[in-house]
Amino acid sequence: MHETNKIYQHGTLATLIEGLYEGTLSIGELLKHGDYGIGTVGDLDGEMITMDGKAFQITSEGQVNQLTDNVLVPFATVHFHQPDVSIQFENVAGSILEEQLLELYPYQNLFFGIVIKGTFSKMSTRSVAKQSKPYPTLTAVTAEQSEFSAEHINGTIVGYFTPKLFQGIGAAGFHLHFLSDKMDMGGHILDYHLENGMVSLQPFSSLEQHFPIENDAFLKSNVNVAKLHDEIKLAEN
Ligand SMILES: [Zn+2]
Repeated sequence: MHETNKIYQHGTLATLIEGLYEGTLSIGELLKHGDYGIGTVGDLDGEMITMDGKAFQITSEGQVNQLTDNVLVPFATVHFHQPDVSIQFENVAGSILEEQLLELYPYQNLFFGIVIKGTFSKMSTRSVAKQSKPYPTLTAVTAEQSEFSAEHINGTIVGYFTPKLFQGIGAAGFHLHFLSDKMDMGGHILDYHLENGMVSLQPFSSLEQHFPIENDAFLKSNVNVAKLHDEIKLAEN
């Protein structure tokens, strides 16, 4: 039996913001801790989404590739999907849906997983380009991100809500990635409108935060906490 009340994360958003993009955990190892999730790929080579125990990369060219077990990632969050709540929604903008979920469920101080399977009248995403050392900061990279958009598209959103208290481990609020059913469009979500679909929520009682203890750059990194909130806003919204 898998533990379904636990969220597992490798790396932190704060160190990704600083430009620590070297892959430090294999996909094979990551998938032992969850079958659904999101993240990025080593060298910041695109956005990642994990579902049904498979990990997919959406490159800055918009190409979707399934990742093999040996690929390394610097930052990823996963959980074993077994939602507590599933509700049908239709014709709602993403931002309104997110507000409604927080009004309907007392989860604002919890990490929770969110999966939305359905048809989206609008989906707008971004992906980041592969970097080489010396790595630029994440805000420098996202300033040049590729953006994609689609209308009336079927697919799946996977993501997490991070409580305000834990800004830095992740981005406070909703952080969502998308993959179309046809595997031809996806990425880190900028905006969406749900035409109709099933929204599933899974609150977690535990967080397992795993660190890249053998990574020299991580051990020597010195996160600028004073600037962190502004940098996260720039990079993730
Ligand atoms: Zn993302």
